[in-house]
Amino acid sequence: MIRNLPQQWDMETDLVAIGSGIGGLSAAIAAHDEGASAMVLERADKVGGVTALSLGELWVAGNHLAAALGLEDSVDAGFRYLRRLSMGYGDEALILNKVVHAREALRYFERTIGLKMRVVRDAPDYYYKHSDDAVAEGRLLEVEPFPAQQLGDWQEKTRVSPVVPFGMTHEDMYGRGGTANIARWDFELMGERLGNDIRCLGPGLVAYFVKAALERDIPLHTGVNVEELIGDGERIIGVRATRDGKDLFIKANRGVVVAVSSYERHQELNKTLGQQLEPISYVFDTIDGANFRLAGPFGARVARVPDITLLGYNIPGEETEEGHPLPRGAMTSIGLPHVIVVNGAGKRFGNEAFYRQFNYTVDQIDGASQTHPNFPCWAILDTQAKDKYPFGSIMPDQAWPTGFGLQADSIAELAGKMGVDAQSLEATIGGFNRHAEQGEDPAFGRGTHPWSAWMCGDPFHKPNANLGPLNKPPFYAVELKRMGGSAIPAAGLLADEHCRALGWDNQPIPGLYVAGNSMARMETGAVMQSGISNARGMMHGYLIGHHVAGKPSELLQQAIARLAP
Ligand SMILES: Cc1cc2nc3c(=O)[nH]c(=O)nc-3n(C[C@H](O)[C@H](O)[C@H](O)COP(=O)(O)OP(=O)(O)OC[C@H]3O[C@@H](n4cnc5c(N)ncnc54)[C@H](O)[C@@H]3O)c2cc1C
Repeated sequence: MIRNLPQQWDMETDLVAIGSGIGGLSAAIAAHDEGASAMVLERADKVGGVTALSLGELWVAGNHLAAALGLEDSVDAGFRYLRRLSMGYGDEALILNKVVHAREALRYFERTIGLKMRVVRDAPDYYYKHSDDAVAEGRLLEVEPFPAQQLGDWQEKTRVSPVVPFGMTHEDMYGRGGTANIARWDFELMGERLGNDIRCLGPGLVAYFVKAALERDIPLHTGVNVEELIGDGERIIGVRATRDGKDLFIKANRGVVVAVSSYERHQELNKTLGQQLEPISYVFDTIDGANFRLAGPFGARVARVPDITLLGYNIPGEETEEGHPLPRGAMTSIGLPHVIVVNGAGKRFGNEAFYRQFNYTVDQIDGASQTHPNFPCWAILDTQAKDKYPFGSIMPDQAWPTGFGLQADSIAELAGKMGVDAQSLEATIGGFNRHAEQGEDPAFGRGTHPWSAWMCGDPFHKPNANLGPLNKPPFYAVELKRMGGSAIPAAGLLADEHCRALGWDNQPIPGLYVAGNSMARMETGAVMQSGISNARGMMHGYLIGHHVAGKPSELLQQAIARLAP
């Protein structure tokens, strides 16, 4: 191992958590509560990470909150669900580890920090009706609204989200028909919450953890960019960071956690590790693959799972805090009635209402012609969709901004503007319409996943929440762009069941832990389920905190023994 000791240390603690999202914060808090000291280092000028941008969902199988509502579920069903859907690309022991510890971590943080979560009612698993081990509701959780005044001086320094309506809970949104029915939302309540800085969703979730860190006097250092790990030849014993251009050496007596998320703002890594070409992204500039730069020199092993390419678009005039064009995800628009997506041949290529199917096909390569047959692609909608549903942040009664999208009075004219074959596009829409009127999609099975209706559809639209014909002119087309996976990456650092980073010899690298999206997704393999990422970060923190304090969890071994034939 590298030996790169500094002449002297500037600070010292037991556990250094790099990154102030749910992974870093929960590790620091659990370490503190189990008897070790901890510190959080954050490169940005605000804490909260991508966690604070998110919808704040946690996916926890067999949790006690669902049980209290009488909703049936179990660890075993959750394990079978993920194991089957991971398609062999995950690691069975780590899948089980995730399922047993996510529920344990939930109870733990409820007890220790006063985290308040509740079941998102009527939110089905992605594969409900397509997997025997899926549930109709109970595994998806969200936080109770958090009054951010409780953060004191850190209220302004704790991130909120430019892309989710964090004045609303899931119940407020989806209980009233979801984003398709935004006009039915209670905007008075939203205004009241925002006016009083009461945070829901991701901003609410992370605020609970920031508050807990503050209550424990865990130092949160912002503007501190960790540049390298420090080893003594045998273990990782600290970090070198820079603050205001000056070096800062911080000693970590028991360990360092790399919880810096993924590489979504690093286009070269998107290409070489994620196999995604120039995706647009929601996330901020510090999500640039520091996990690999930091742990790589110490021989940390990297793993990758199959991944999808999301789609999005930019609305002229919308920018991120850092001045990038602000992306809008296409997922919740393209599964609505009267909307489809076509490729350059004017053909549909998947179930637009179920991104786990649809988005695997976006970057599919046709080896015969060495092309991406499904990219570029366009969302196509008619006037019924435009008049009824929002498109990103554009409300139904709003005119589309100049330069956004294409408009035409006929399908043929629209095809001409898009540069696709008019007959092909007419045939595609004609075929889709015939079945959509009956609420069916024999080509791709759109509208058969209850999750699609809940998340991407209009539940009030009959006969199917995700299907309606495109037959009212004018027609519209929006060219879609590749979009990053909301910081949920294909590749990450491999770790064991205690979140210790593994070397290429499969042995833990002493003193080095990984949490959250910095860790390879061996707990999910080929599958994803909304809420897994935040739940992973939280349970990684739980595991690291216990391990670093000399109290490693034994739950996995117990579960393995119980499940052994
Ligand atoms: C719009 C959106 C919605 C989402 N919704 C959900 C959801 O509902 N449920 C779910 O499970 N997931 C969701 N996700 C994904 C989820 O938010 C992330 O997977 C999760 O927050 C990752 O947490 P983390 O702790 O790994 O990283 P983060 O929360 O991103 O924290 C990492 C931090 O590390 C810092 N950092 C980076 N490099 C350094 C360095 N060298 N030194 C110091 N600090 C550094 C970064 O600035 C950042 O603050 C969503 C994401 C987005 C964008």
